[in-house]
Amino acid sequence: MSHRTPTRLNEDGDLEKQCGICGDWWYFDDEFFNRNVSGNLASPCKACCIEIRRRIAEKPCSVAGCPLPRYGRVSSYCREHHYQIHLGRTAPARKAQKPRKLRNQNYY
Ligand SMILES: [Zn+2]
Ligand SMILES: [Zn+2]
Repeated sequence: MSHRTPTRLNEDGDLEKQCGICGDWWYFDDEFFNRNVSGNLASPCKACCIEIRRRIAEKPCSVAGCPLPRYGRVSSYCREHHYQIHLGRTAPARKAQKPRKLRNQNYY
């Protein structure tokens, strides 16, 4: 995405930038916007970035009908589906189990 969010000068002559999400105007400054890797100010304001992250964390799994929460921020699926879809196996049990003896088997 390379679209630029608009900027303007306020009545005091300070540069302001419009948040691409909430549409509010904030000072064109890293106090209100995060910087992305290329050193430019990100389009959403900091408050919106926090909100986006929170919402992603709260979103349910992408598999239809699965009500489980997503597996962290890295996946769009719950833990079970994350393993099934990305790793092709079922998720290991969370509780510490007695390790079974495995021979000639690699953990990858
Ligand atoms: Zn915003
Ligand atoms: Zn799921």
